[in-house]
Amino acid sequence: MTDLHRLSIRELSEGLAGSKFSSRELTEHYLKRIEKIDAQVQSYVTVTPEQALAQADAADALRKSGMANVLTGVPVAHKDIFCTQGIKTTAGSKILDNFISPYDATVVAKGKVAGLVTLGKVNMDEFAMGSTSESSYFGATKNPWALDHVPGGSSGGSAAAVAADLAPFATGTDTGGSIRQPASFCGLTGLKPTYGRVSRFGMIAYASSLDQGGPMARSAEDCAYLMNVMAGHDDRDSTSVKVDADDYVANLNGTSVKGLRIGIPKQYFNVAGLDADVKARVEESLKKLEEMGATLVEIDLNMTDAYVPTYYLIAPAEASSNLQRFDGVRYGYRCENPVDLTDLYKRSRSEGFGPEVQRRILIGTYALSAGYYDAYYVKAQKVRRLIQQDFLKAFESVDVIAAPSAPTTAYKIGASLDPVEMYLGDIYTIAVNLAGLPAINAPVGFDKDQLPIGLQLIGNYWSESQLLSVVHQYQQATDWHTKRAAIAEETV
Ligand code: GLN
Repeated sequence: MTDLHRLSIRELSEGLAGSKFSSRELTEHYLKRIEKIDAQVQSYVTVTPEQALAQADAADALRKSGMANVLTGVPVAHKDIFCTQGIKTTAGSKILDNFISPYDATVVAKGKVAGLVTLGKVNMDEFAMGSTSESSYFGATKNPWALDHVPGGSSGGSAAAVAADLAPFATGTDTGGSIRQPASFCGLTGLKPTYGRVSRFGMIAYASSLDQGGPMARSAEDCAYLMNVMAGHDDRDSTSVKVDADDYVANLNGTSVKGLRIGIPKQYFNVAGLDADVKARVEESLKKLEEMGATLVEIDLNMTDAYVPTYYLIAPAEASSNLQRFDGVRYGYRCENPVDLTDLYKRSRSEGFGPEVQRRILIGTYALSAGYYDAYYVKAQKVRRLIQQDFLKAFESVDVIAAPSAPTTAYKIGASLDPVEMYLGDIYTIAVNLAGLPAINAPVGFDKDQLPIGLQLIGNYWSESQLLSVVHQYQQATDWHTKRAAIAEETV
């Protein structure tokens, strides 16, 4: 079969169960596509054909013995931030270019238990810091919709791989938008779960109080399948919450759009820099939801102006602390011929970290240093609480909150945004992480250059089922999520 990459996860599961094709055939099909097409997209940092085929054969054997799970034999791509035993894990950084983890991240381990076949590891901004995937040591990933544009970031490799049909779905992580924004830029569905829903064990830390893994796929239904694998309590992550995960697939029709109260934050639609096409498509999608029975309610989120400064204090502060462990001693890159220990630390880190990571370490250490800690870090934590309260107040009168996922469509590669300009592009996503809330991106159309646009729906705590269900129903009534970039149409 030459069009296996066009099947949804449910169709793949049914096809495998009905022996229409084997996991080996499916895996070979994806590996062939990666070999033929990924040179243009550069979504993978590492492809693992031998391990993948061995996993596929094991999956096929399990099927024969009648012991298969619903996803046994379905391929997946993992963001290169999830540790994979025996396979290089780089976090997009030179400092980890030679790092082979001795263990699997919980998300990866759960994938193995579910029978997923790992195709490889996909590219990302260095240590997940960025919005374009250009800060990766391994070079820029291209947006499948326009190869001279970025796929977004930091989970740009995950988004590009799925959008080019080089993986049926992929894992991502979201510290300040890194699932939702690349999903938006590449025309995909991506879910950032409630903080604590998905284990962070073995997920290389950027900003621990904000980081959360989640699924990226074509549709809410496909995301629900991967959420069923990823979600759940983990003893090895003390911030993973002891709340039973839902069956996200079973709940896909669990929320009625009829009567759903969707909050429209006044402040969000008057942001300077909100692209006219983005605004128009998002408003059209809300109109569609209204036709389907939802009620649009204007709300206030008064802390909007505080999002960027607060996030860009807290995230770098935590990053500077987390990244202390990369010292050239324990693992990763070590400089040549250090003269003493200080020289070893200094040069290993200066040579091993890229400019964006170094900038954030500097901002973070400054904000945490004696004398500035109260003025900056403690103050930012207080504002963070106010941002959370703003959302909780809004959820007293609405069920979900709507926003664009990003103020623009994908940037041109090398557009050389200055750092602050890039940070401002995170306006719609970062508050969700500061508050620890779940949110989803759904594709809702294109701009004048045929670049995808996304609608973001933000839910209250633990409302992943509701978000997936609302988007699922929107996707039953529309076909934006089925549109494919020309490169994904290529047969190999
Ligand atoms: N763009 C944001 C940042 O650079 C978010 C990145 C992320 O979610 N990992 O921090």
